[in-house]
Amino acid sequence: MSDLADRLAVVRASVADAATEAGREASGITTIVVTKFHPASLVAELAALGVLDIGENRHQEAQAKAAELEGLGIRWHFVGQLQSKKAKQVRAYAKVIHSVDRVALVDALRSDEASVDCFVQLNLTDDPGRGGVSSEGLEPLVEHVLATPGLNLLGLMAVAPLGEPARPAFARVRRLSERVRAIAPAATSLSMGMSHDFRDAILEGATHLRIGSAITGNRPVAG
Ligand SMILES: *Cc1c(COP(=O)(O)O)cnc(C)c1O
Repeated sequence: MSDLADRLAVVRASVADAATEAGREASGITTIVVTKFHPASLVAELAALGVLDIGENRHQEAQAKAAELEGLGIRWHFVGQLQSKKAKQVRAYAKVIHSVDRVALVDALRSDEASVDCFVQLNLTDDPGRGGVSSEGLEPLVEHVLATPGLNLLGLMAVAPLGEPARPAFARVRRLSERVRAIAPAATSLSMGMSHDFRDAILEGATHLRIGSAITGNRPVAG
């Protein structure tokens, strides 16, 4: 097996273990492999191993890879901060947008033709620069998404804050998602859990993991 296939197998086994520990079915958990900074050839290798859910966090890089790998059946997940002026372009290739975090972006994603799946991103830190809506702003933003044609709300996305235990942060997301479900009953999904904290995320109900380096290996330095 290649190193990539090895690491993928290790992560899949850990996901299955955590699901068992949580009393959940692993089939209810989608692992998105985040390939930012890696070349399109690595994404093609992943596709050959059966991984079709791929995450990217920068529009230009994602757009180029999506064009190069068209026809492989890859489902592109956009997980990074998104400028409103790039929203339409991201819609064109993304299957799911995980980082909807403000009214202006929702308006820019509006479409009367096609629907795109999305998550509302929560900011679990006090730093507005991290991306995500604060818990105070959550319900108004969710209501705006629900009222906007062309957006299909799957649920909530979050990144655990640096320097504190992840599990309580993910528990907070799970509790906030109950508030979301009160107004959007179909928005039951939770996009949370990365290389170092996906077990905690699974124990708190994550349905979509965004895992990079544990599968891809270390990222090349940004150019
Ligand atoms: C890079 C990234 C990930 C994956 O991070 P790893 O620590 O490499 O698993 C997940 N989510 C987002 C939003 C990212 O930017």
